[in-house]
Amino acid sequence: MLKTLRTSLLCLGLLGLFGCAPAEPAGGGAEAQAPQKVYRWKLITTWPKNLPGLGTAPERLAEQLKVMSNGRLDIKVYGAGELVGAFEVFDAVSQGTAEMGHGAAYYWRGKIPIAAMFATVPFGMNAQEMNGWLHYGGGMDLWRELYEPFGLVPLASGNTGVQMAGWFNKEINSLADLQGLKMRIPGLGGEVLQRAGGTPVALPGGEVFTALQTGAIDATEWVGPYNDLALALHTVAKYYYYPGWHEPGPTLESIVNKDAWDSLPADLQAMIEVATRAINDDMLSEFTARNNAALRTLVDEHGVELRALPDDVIAELRTVSAEVVAEAAAENELAQRIYDSYMSFLEDVRAYHEISEQAYINAR
Ligand code: CA
Repeated sequence: MLKTLRTSLLCLGLLGLFGCAPAEPAGGGAEAQAPQKVYRWKLITTWPKNLPGLGTAPERLAEQLKVMSNGRLDIKVYGAGELVGAFEVFDAVSQGTAEMGHGAAYYWRGKIPIAAMFATVPFGMNAQEMNGWLHYGGGMDLWRELYEPFGLVPLASGNTGVQMAGWFNKEINSLADLQGLKMRIPGLGGEVLQRAGGTPVALPGGEVFTALQTGAIDATEWVGPYNDLALALHTVAKYYYYPGWHEPGPTLESIVNKDAWDSLPADLQAMIEVATRAINDDMLSEFTARNNAALRTLVDEHGVELRALPDDVIAELRTVSAEVVAEAAAENELAQRIYDSYMSFLEDVRAYHEISEQAYINAR
């Protein structure tokens, strides 16, 4: 006791000279003075530069990461076509042409058919449910396993919520109206349309307007009112159909080149994990806040005709969707595990959401 007191007093007396704790540089040490290593990355996207919602999200992500990292992670964002074409993003990041990309997993369906399940599944999970599956239901581990052979690390980085069924220049009154319909629609939804008699076309966002204007396609889906208004799709189509059966809550993705990812210290990796989670939520918040005002503008100011798809059309699309998705799962062992995980989570979450989200929305 006495000894302790004496030591303490001695420390107090010497504090002004040396202190008593082991020497620890307090802001002015050699470590703090070392120059910071700056990682200058390119982030390529599938979106037109700064397109509201989809295109502004990766810009915000880059800005936030620069601030969070005190400038150590300096990411320059490129729109589709600036460095590589929209549909070349996956390969370009895989090969290291850019360190990072932002897009949607169903755009790589030609290369990895089952990847579409990490964007969206027709009649599948909504945004809230996708986030639950990816981050707490095993989905993210499967996604990383799927992209690992391509040297890519995927991260959920945005969600639009339930989309609109799309823009048409004729009414859809029955299944007969889908026959021969040439429509821009990506992912598993495109395959469903094909089996229902239509012709799906894959086009990046920047080419949708011109294709519809010139008659190269008869119809298109894009996202929802806020994003579709920005593309001026109402000037080239008359009817706006809902609901977006084919995209009930698509996840947008960031992909990071694995070598670039491994080159980062743990704190910068953690910043990317957290910042992408934030942007994943932020995009959904923005669409949620802005969709209805945009819909009012489309209907009230531009005379857009809002229509619901007929019940029998929806019923047929639902039946065909179940077949298409199950067939995609049969492709290989990993595809089957992804399908099983997704469907098992969907079954569970649907059971609970029937008595929570759904019951509440019906009640209010
Ligand atoms: Ca879409």
